[in-house]
Amino acid sequence: MRLFECGSLVPGCDWHTRADSDAEVVRRAVDHLRQSHGETLIRETMVDNIKARIVEETKAA
Ligand SMILES: [Zn+2]
Repeated sequence: MRLFECGSLVPGCDWHTRADSDAEVVRRAVDHLRQSHGETLIRETMVDNIKARIVEETKAA
């Protein structure tokens, strides 16, 4: 699973999302930024910032 924690981009925010693909994580993160942080204009640099902070989540066996 791919994991994105909004707090890595917006200090203090504890929202996070996980999905099978980076594209889906980015889509959800953009939705969240629009709705919770008032980012009406999502720039390409913002998408890059999200992608740079997506981490692979390894399940504890
Ligand atoms: Zn957030």
